[in-house]
Amino acid sequence: MRWTERKKARRRLVWTLAGSILAAGLAGAVGPLAAAQAPPAPAAPAPAPPRFVVVLDAAHGGDDLGGRLSNGQLEKDFTLALSVRLRSLLAARGIPVVTTRESDQAVDLDRRAAIANRANAQACLSLHGSESGSGVHLFVSSLAPAQPRRFAAWKTAQAAWVTRSLALAGVLNSALLHAGFNVTLGRAALPALDSLACPAVAVEVAPETASGRDSTQAPAAGLDDPGYQARVAGALAAALLEWRTDAWRMEAARP
Ligand SMILES: [Zn+2]
Repeated sequence: MRWTERKKARRRLVWTLAGSILAAGLAGAVGPLAAAQAPPAPAAPAPAPPRFVVVLDAAHGGDDLGGRLSNGQLEKDFTLALSVRLRSLLAARGIPVVTTRESDQAVDLDRRAAIANRANAQACLSLHGSESGSGVHLFVSSLAPAQPRRFAAWKTAQAAWVTRSLALAGVLNSALLHAGFNVTLGRAALPALDSLACPAVAVEVAPETASGRDSTQAPAAGLDDPGYQARVAGALAAALLEWRTDAWRMEAARP
């Protein structure tokens, strides 16, 4: 290479370098501007909360009258009335409800469990009425907690859910106590609960005694009292709303 060519080459190199620096500088200056002018990325839709379904099982029905309650009321009629009240309170708050019966019909336990388990519910309440005791009795299956299995035995499906059922009973207990009810909690071997694959609690409503209420000392209310039914349904609905919030929180915390 002759001197002039070498000089040209060096000059070319200088220009090339200068060009690169200038380009880099421009890129630096233009970069944020370009980003600012770019159309905004479509906002990702907020993840929908998981579907929350409640199963209401109005115990008894048809030939199965259940117990005889005060004023000649039949338990099967009381449980249906409570189920209807609770369903409408939950529906008004946007909670889908699956019921095991909507009328005075006989539904055997296997069919009730099949309906409940198909619903993939986050709470299953089996509703009963009783003349013994006072306030509301909550029962959770007495099955020992077990690891969930792919094919759980039908009659003991609840074993995998017992821990969640106890948590649900705790939320129901708090809401009922808050509403001024006498509450008793227990474990029981109930076939109607043992075959359920969902957090499940049997809710047995007994008449309210004057001593069961707080300072107001209002007279006792029987199960045929619509006001009493409405208060029980209201407290159960409040508990299920709380339970839904818990369920969503747990879902959100999942990795
Ligand atoms: Zn019953």
